[in-house]
Amino acid sequence: MKTTRLSVLALCATVGMTAFSSCSKEQETAVPTSSAAKQEAKAEEAYPGERGTVQTGKFGSESIVYQQINGENILEGDIILAASQLNPTGPQTESAGRNTGKWPSAVVYYTIDAALPSQNRVTDAITHWQTYTAVRFVKRTTQANYVTFRVGSGCSSNIGMIGGRQYINLASGCSTGNTIHEIGHALGLFHEQTRNDRDTYVNILTQNIQAGYENNFTKYGVSGYSGTDFGALDFGSIMMYGSFSFSSNGQPTITKKDGSTFDIQRSGLSAGDRAGIDIMY
Ligand SMILES: [Zn+2]
Repeated sequence: MKTTRLSVLALCATVGMTAFSSCSKEQETAVPTSSAAKQEAKAEEAYPGERGTVQTGKFGSESIVYQQINGENILEGDIILAASQLNPTGPQTESAGRNTGKWPSAVVYYTIDAALPSQNRVTDAITHWQTYTAVRFVKRTTQANYVTFRVGSGCSSNIGMIGGRQYINLASGCSTGNTIHEIGHALGLFHEQTRNDRDTYVNILTQNIQAGYENNFTKYGVSGYSGTDFGALDFGSIMMYGSFSFSSNGQPTITKKDGSTFDIQRSGLSAGDRAGIDIMY
C-alpha cells in the first residue's frame, strides 16, 4: 500500500504520555492515503492510564502475569481474559488462544450496540477483514456465540471465541485500525512481540517501559497459550507494537536487532497477518 509520512508531534502535545504512549518527538507514523486511518496510530489499552492489581495465574499451560482492572482480567494491555480461560483445573490437553477458541466455519456472528458512535469503524474493519481473509462476519440473530461491539474505556477484546456473548470495546479514540486489531484478538491472534522467537528479531528495552506495563512485553512458550507462531516475526503486523509503545521517557521500548526503530502499523492487515489467518482458518 502506498503510504505517506506524517509527523505526530502536534498530536503528542495534546494527547499526552499517560493515556497513549506511542509519542515521541522524533517519531513518525506511516499513514496510508486512504481516509480510514489518517490519525495517530497507538497501541491499544483496555483502560488507558489505569493500573490494576497484578495477578499471576495460568492460561492454558502457560504461567502468566496479568492485571485486574475494574473486575476484568487484562493481559498485555487490551486482552480481556474470560474467567473460563484462567487457572484451568485438571490436565490441559490443549491450549487456549490460537489453537482453540476458533470460530466454527470461520464465521463470526456479531451485533453493534446502538449507543456506539462512529459505527463505520466497525463496518469498515469488517469489510477489511472480509476483503483480505476468508473470515466472514454475519449479523447475529439467535446464535449463542457472538461478539457485540460497544463503547468502552479504551480498545479491548477477548482472545478467541470464548462462548456466549463477548465484547469488543471501543472508546472514541479507537480507530478503524485499532478495531481491525481487536478483531484479530477475537479471532485468536496475540501480540506479535510476545512470540517465543522474538528475541531473534528485537531488543526489549525494559528500562524505557512505563512502570506497570512490563508484562505487555513478555514472551511465551510455543507450546503454551500462544499456540503457533507463523512465519518470521512481522514488524508490519497489525498485532505488533511500535518501537515507542508504552515508553516512559520517549525512548524506544522495542528496537530491531541493529538498534533501529520501526513504526507501529494500524492501517490494515499485513501480508503476514493474512497468511497466519489463512493457516488458522
Ligand atoms: Zn492488542
